Amino acid sequence: MAPANVCTGEEGKLVFYYVAKNDFLSLKSIILQHNLNVDIYDEHGMTPLKSAAYNGHKEICQFLLDQGADVNCKNHEHGYTALHFAALSGNAEVCQLLLDSGANSHPLNSVGRTPSQMAAFVGFHNCVAVINNYIPKSEVEYYTLTHGLETEPKLPSVYASPLHKFIMQVNVHPVRVALNLQPTLIEDLPRIKKILELMCEKEMKRGAESNEVMSFKLHYLSCIVAEVIKCSFRSPEKQSDPVELFVRKILVRKRGEEYIDFLIRDIVREFPFRECTIFRQMVTSLANQKDSPPALSLVTVAINGQRGFSDDVKTCATCGEEKASKKCSKCKQVQYCDRECQRLHWFVHKKECNRNNEELINKMENSVKIN
Ligand SMILES: [Zn+2]
Ligand SMILES: [Zn+2]
Repeated sequence: MAPANVCTGEEGKLVFYYVAKNDFLSLKSIILQHNLNVDIYDEHGMTPLKSAAYNGHKEICQFLLDQGADVNCKNHEHGYTALHFAALSGNAEVCQLLLDSGANSHPLNSVGRTPSQMAAFVGFHNCVAVINNYIPKSEVEYYTLTHGLETEPKLPSVYASPLHKFIMQVNVHPVRVALNLQPTLIEDLPRIKKILELMCEKEMKRGAESNEVMSFKLHYLSCIVAEVIKCSFRSPEKQSDPVELFVRKILVRKRGEEYIDFLIRDIVREFPFRECTIFRQMVTSLANQKDSPPALSLVTVAINGQRGFSDDVKTCATCGEEKASKKCSKCKQVQYCDRECQRLHWFVHKKECNRNNEELINKMENSVKIN
């Protein structure tokens, strides 16, 4: 076995050669045959894992990680980690793999840039979204244990997985956020809100390791949960579903859009950490009355990065989820993720659906007449 962390001899050179060529089989065979250390590096501090990440080759990255490659290796001459390189490759799955393998989500390179900033710079919105929305599950599980003088944990363990998934959701449309509280988190909204607030504060108080984007997102989610809680007080005698009440408030034409805009502006203003960049940027954009974008798209861009021109996708009319594949079966003019989203939207879509249908019938009749 080669001594740790030096690129020695022909075998080391071959490892880099095979990684550069994306030749998985040759790479695998040389490493296994000679029992090579996979954390070798060249004169620039490039490791095989960094090189594979830069190539966006998931299978090779997975293999190197299985062989014990250091996912947070910082030997690079400009301070780039494997995640920096994955972000530059544009391959979101490789970013996800590295994060799941313990990569620090926001290390700084020698010019003070994080991986998600690098991805944003070159326009890889998918990589930005994956990195910015990532949080290790252990951060949630922390609250399922007792600390200090506590006699019971702040969070029953049944909520750990659903809450982790809830935090990692990429779509921050308030309707989707509220729907994702079902079926488990809805059982104890005040507790979920409290944990989100604690996590928001914790993310901001890590000194150099602070993650302001995640901190803001946790604040945002806790505020949406607070709005859903308000809806459960509105008609307690009717036993109506607070999520449904909240969603209907948003979906009403015009009034709903105003409500969302107002709500999100309030959420931004109430963010407790006013010194950070993300807060200042959002406040500046929102204050610019003339060409200020809707508050929801501003928050979406702050968390998920700016979309490229090429990824213009069909979104769900109810919750803004991407790749909504179901169409309204009557008019075929609107998309939804599923039946639930279509059901929730029907009370507003009903009217336009009939209108769409009449237009469609007129068009067809006209074309028949012409022929
Ligand atoms: Zn939907
Ligand atoms: Zn329709």
